[in-house]
Amino acid sequence: MADVGAQLKHFLSDKVQHFTESVIREMTRQAMLHGAVNLAQGFPDFPAPADIKQAAQEAVARDVNQYAITWGAKNLRNAIARQMKEWQGMAVDPETQITVCCGSTEAMISTLLAVCNKGDEVVIFEPFYENYGPDAILSGARPVFVKLRPPTTADGEWTFDEHELRTAFHHHTKAIILNTPNNPTGKVFTRAELELIRDLCVEFNVLAITDEIYEHIIYDDTQHVSIASLDGMAERTVTINGLSKTYSVTGWRVGWAVAPPPITSAIRKVHDFLTVGAPAPLQEAGAAALGLPSSYYQSLATAYCTRRNRLMPALTEAGFQCFKPRGAYYVMTDISRFGFSDDVTFAKYLVKEIGVAVVPGSSFYHNPGDGARQVRFAFCKRAETLDEAGRRLKKLTLSS
Ligand code: GLN
Repeated sequence: MADVGAQLKHFLSDKVQHFTESVIREMTRQAMLHGAVNLAQGFPDFPAPADIKQAAQEAVARDVNQYAITWGAKNLRNAIARQMKEWQGMAVDPETQITVCCGSTEAMISTLLAVCNKGDEVVIFEPFYENYGPDAILSGARPVFVKLRPPTTADGEWTFDEHELRTAFHHHTKAIILNTPNNPTGKVFTRAELELIRDLCVEFNVLAITDEIYEHIIYDDTQHVSIASLDGMAERTVTINGLSKTYSVTGWRVGWAVAPPPITSAIRKVHDFLTVGAPAPLQEAGAAALGLPSSYYQSLATAYCTRRNRLMPALTEAGFQCFKPRGAYYVMTDISRFGFSDDVTFAKYLVKEIGVAVVPGSSFYHNPGDGARQVRFAFCKRAETLDEAGRRLKKLTLSS
C-alpha cells in the first residue's frame, strides 16, 4: 500500500505539498458534521439586501446569461470607478484599470501570478488570512512574515515594529500584501502606518497589494484609508475588493482588482485563462449594489458593531481574552485560561463537545506554535446565532 501511495505522490506538484487545505473551510464542514454553531468561516447567516437579490433575478430573466466581457461587465466597472472616487477620492479608469474576478480570492491569486517571478519575496503581516501563504507559494514567490503584536491592554491596538518591517524589505522584495481592515486581528491600519509602508515601498521599489474587502465594516469612529490614495502610491498599488462582505453575498464570487494599466493588462491575461470571467448576471446585480445610498453603509457598520458588542461580553464571560476589533467581523482571542495543550485540540473540543466552531489560531501563522494560544470567532451572524453560541460556551470550564 505504501508503494502505491508513493507512486501516486509522484504525480503531484511540489507546490501543493507545501500547504494544506483551508482550515477555515474545513471548520465549516466540521460544524455541519457536529451540528455546531458556525462561528468559524466568515459568511453571514442573514439575508442579503432584497434590492440586490431582485437585481440578480432580473438579470437572469433578461437573459444576461452568457459570458460578460472577460475583465468585467462595463456597468460594474463603471460603478467600481465611481465608488472609488466617492469613498477614497481616487480617479480610476474603468477601461484600463479594473479587472473583475471570481471573488477577491481570485483577484489576489491572479495579481500574484501576474507580478511574481520565482525567487521574488512577498512581505506579509502575520497573523494573516490563510489564503495569502498558498497564494505566494503558487505564484513562485517566497513569503516573508512580519509580526503584528497583540494589544497589551483591553482597548489597545495590534502594532508592528518599524525596524522589523524595514528588515523584511530588500532587493528581492516584489510586493507587500496588506489587509485593512484586517482578518483575523480586526486591526485597521492608520494613515501614519500606511505612510511608513508607503515610504518603504517607494524606497525599495515594491508593489503594495491591498485587500480591502472589509472597507465598510469599521467601528469606534475608525477611518479606513486606502494606501493607493497616498501620494506616490497610485502607480504602485493593486487594490482588491469585492461584493462578498459589503453586500453579504459571499457565494456570488464577484471581486475585483484595481491597478495601473500595465499591471491591469497582466492581471487580465492571468484572469482570462484561469476563469474567463465572473458570473455575468451577478455582475449586473453588483452594479446595482454599488449604487445603494450611503445610509446602507452606515447601517451595515452599525449592525456589525452591535454584533461585535453582543459576542465579546459572552466570550469574556466564558474565559476568553478578547482582542477588540476596530474593523472586519472577527474577534481573535487568547485561550490560555482553558489549559489546553494547543489551539487545534481546543478547537476540536469546542466543535464536538461544546457545539461551537471556531478557527484555530495556528491557521493564521506560518509557524503553528505562534497561534497555539489563539482562536478566531466570526460574528457575521444573527443575534440568535451569537446568543446560542454564548449559551453553549458557558459550559466551558477554566483550568484554574
Ligand atoms: N474570509 C472568510 C474567513 O476568513 C472566508 C473566506 C473564504 O472562505 N473564502 O473566514
